[in-house]
Amino acid sequence: MEVRKYLSDQGFIEIETPYLIKSTPEGARDFVVPSRMNEGQFYALPQSPQTFKQLLMVGGMDKYFQIVKCFRDEDLRADRQPEFTQIDCEMAFVEQEDILETFEGLTRHVLKSIHGIDPGAFPRMTYDEAIQRYGSDKPDIRFGMEFGELNELAQHRDFNVFNQAELVVGIAVPGGADWSRKEIDAWVDWVKRPQVGAKGLVYVKCNADGTYKSSVDKFYETEDLAKWAEVLGAEKGDLLLIISGEASASRNQLNALRMELANTLGLRKPNEFAPLWVTDFPLLEWDEETESYHAMHHPFTSPKPDQLSLLDTDPKAVRANAYDLVLNGNEIGGGSIRIHDKDVQKLMFKHLGFTEEEAKSQFGFLMDAFQYGAPPHGGIAFGLDRFVAILGGQETIRDFIAFPKNNSGRDVMIDAPATIDNDQLKELHLKLDLPSK
Ligand code: ASP
Repeated sequence: MEVRKYLSDQGFIEIETPYLIKSTPEGARDFVVPSRMNEGQFYALPQSPQTFKQLLMVGGMDKYFQIVKCFRDEDLRADRQPEFTQIDCEMAFVEQEDILETFEGLTRHVLKSIHGIDPGAFPRMTYDEAIQRYGSDKPDIRFGMEFGELNELAQHRDFNVFNQAELVVGIAVPGGADWSRKEIDAWVDWVKRPQVGAKGLVYVKCNADGTYKSSVDKFYETEDLAKWAEVLGAEKGDLLLIISGEASASRNQLNALRMELANTLGLRKPNEFAPLWVTDFPLLEWDEETESYHAMHHPFTSPKPDQLSLLDTDPKAVRANAYDLVLNGNEIGGGSIRIHDKDVQKLMFKHLGFTEEEAKSQFGFLMDAFQYGAPPHGGIAFGLDRFVAILGGQETIRDFIAFPKNNSGRDVMIDAPATIDNDQLKELHLKLDLPSK
């Protein structure tokens, strides 16, 4: 109700869009519904109302919102369900700044009305900065342990592990210098688990008496270790933990370690709220499996206008007018300024590996609409379930959804999905080709 109140005070109109549609690419698989009246054809349930809300902008609506179910067939985790609810919004004649202000306002309104808290203006960080400082595009900034890079300070001795690494990166754990050998070894084992995948973990104790004790004492002098401590912002009594190797893998591993340490040390306080905007996401990401570029947000996201020409020469470097709203280490909202020019949209599809025919048959309706003069527009969608879970001091959205599904996508109460009988299959023109048991 508070969301509706805020948005309607801002002049947003709530509009429903259909559920029986065709594929909207948000990066997941579609749930499909066979059509009885159109043999051999299928509807897809919306992964989001993305294309509809853009059409609404072209059609002259100025500010749209909808609290809406979205459907994504992907592997489930604690913070994911196959159907979930978004607060979906779009505005015409806006720039990124307008969107950030409006939805920072919404988030502050909700925090105020639910918890009586005003976190003040939200910090902003570019994607590159977030990755460098936290190894994550959704950093939890309720606590420190920011990353520090040690290549220059650590790659001049005989320690080959560091010398051969693309990145040497560490954090300072508050109070960790008191940990026993056994406790530290348990963390070394933790990062070596296949789920994390680090090869090892170097530690340096910054003792209260000003001395240092490390797992690499053989290779480094006290002055070296003191310099590392300084870069990592360590105080006396802290423990430095350092990972090295390929840059992006090392950052991922250290991010996993930072978050797990924070959980264990009780630094992720459920009643503290630290929102931030992460901006300037890459437009494209390389997919190893298909050996092609994918849209990092979705294919309707606008590249930074001055970077269009880079699409041909250095696609990875192109940044998008795309932003995420992060709360306590979770992405609670994401959106972008959209492409509103037919030719740019065509070019984008080309770079995403669509042939002209494919682009036309799947998204011709949108590009045709742009022909009639589309206003510059942009928007955002909040994951309502996740937002509510975090407001409730938790992260498992299943506990905040009535009748959630389990990890295999089943509703165990009504026992769905279920088989259907042959008559129904026939009516839908479906033949099941099940392997015989
Ligand atoms: N449609 C996007 C999503 O569901 C959000 C947006 O760009 O507004 O993630």
